[in-house]
Amino acid sequence: MKQYFQQEIETASREEILEIQNKKLVKQVRHVYDNVPYYKKLMDEKGVKPEDIQSVEDIRKLPFLSKADLREAYPYGLLGTDIKNCVRIHSTSGTTGKRVVAFYTQHDIDLWYECCARAIVAAGGNEDDVVQVCYGYGLFTGGAGLDGGSHKVGCLTLPMSSGSTDRQIQFMMDLNATILCCTPSYAAYIGETLAEKGYKPEDNKLKAGIFGAEPWTEEMRQSIQKSLGIKAYDIYGLTETSGPGVAFECCEQSGMHINEDHFYAEIIDPETGEVLPEGSKGELVFTALDKEAFPLLRYRTRDICVLSRKECSCGRTHVKMTKPMGRSDDMLIIRGVNVFPSQIETVLLNEGYTPNYQILVDRMNNTDTLDINVELAPEQFSDKVADIQRREKSLEVAMRGMLGIGPKVHLVAPKSIVRSEGKAVRVIDKRKLHD
Ligand code: ADP
Ligand code: ZN
Repeated sequence: MKQYFQQEIETASREEILEIQNKKLVKQVRHVYDNVPYYKKLMDEKGVKPEDIQSVEDIRKLPFLSKADLREAYPYGLLGTDIKNCVRIHSTSGTTGKRVVAFYTQHDIDLWYECCARAIVAAGGNEDDVVQVCYGYGLFTGGAGLDGGSHKVGCLTLPMSSGSTDRQIQFMMDLNATILCCTPSYAAYIGETLAEKGYKPEDNKLKAGIFGAEPWTEEMRQSIQKSLGIKAYDIYGLTETSGPGVAFECCEQSGMHINEDHFYAEIIDPETGEVLPEGSKGELVFTALDKEAFPLLRYRTRDICVLSRKECSCGRTHVKMTKPMGRSDDMLIIRGVNVFPSQIETVLLNEGYTPNYQILVDRMNNTDTLDINVELAPEQFSDKVADIQRREKSLEVAMRGMLGIGPKVHLVAPKSIVRSEGKAVRVIDKRKLHD
């Protein structure tokens, strides 16, 4: 069975990868300088000329781009080619504000789909597989990316898009889907619905899932693997760099290989912008090495993770990134303490609760309040008030241990928290409304 989609590049030596990166970077910087006035201006302001960039060592001389630049340059300001060469747009989900529009040439689409094909093969996919894509289609990159990758691998592709869970399950069972692609929160929901319909994990033909587009914890992975009877692989990407497939997990399931022949990754201190040494936790920054239409250089993702070059048993040589624990702007500062929603998810699943929860932050009498609604599974439900209160207290203690501050936990009835078909909305921060 095929182990890699593009073995030569996926297992290339460090020196070979560096050589490719150096060559592509020099060309890309020249391309951007000559074609993107917005970025030329930033380079001129910093006093950097294209000839100053001779290798990836020099990349730190270049200015950063941020989401604010993308919004300012909206819609055409960062376009790197004549619009007539573009064949597609996609747009961010708008999770954190005004949408960003990204452009693609046919070359850009091909390289993106290839990255997704690498991810599918790494999850064990080949031409015998039936890939059910229930990421949203349309402006969102999730559907198109995995769909394109699935075609490249030669899998039978079910272009389901998100939602209509009954229909998803009907097609999954009738057409013997073997690989499921969607957000982890939707995968959890599909697992829950299958169980409600009386299916056991072994009743479906699924062997793997490729889940991404939102943060999810290791505990969530275990829970999904169990409910669907599969191996669950992480996939990462963002519209600005093309979409899913920038990085993907292999059989080790311990971090995602970044497609380094197309994307050069750095980790920086989000406060100072200083490049941090390997192994440090910080903000991930990407340079697209060969994208034509939307060639972002040193784009600050705001995703916080760690890079590692530790040898991987799968044979791939590309650097690995840890699961992003959330974006720097997902981080809640509550009473001066940094809290990531993923920490709350870890506690809940470890304590045997469902991944259906909602975090409510507010401010009362000048003090931040943190409330967590946690849905009970039907078998956990009890109408004994004392029993519920005891369990709430015990969860509060566990949360305090993890977060360093004490939330108020409310156990709520089964099915009372709305399910997500795409990216889950976990946090409602009402402080923003008052400010
Ligand atoms: P938006 O920024 O509006 O959500 P995108 O759909 O382009 O737009 O989402 C990209 C973002 O989604 C990434 O920057 C990251 O924060 C998040 N993301 C994508 N894949 C993962 C993943 N596997 N784990 C955690 N977060 C992810
Ligand atoms: Zn690997």
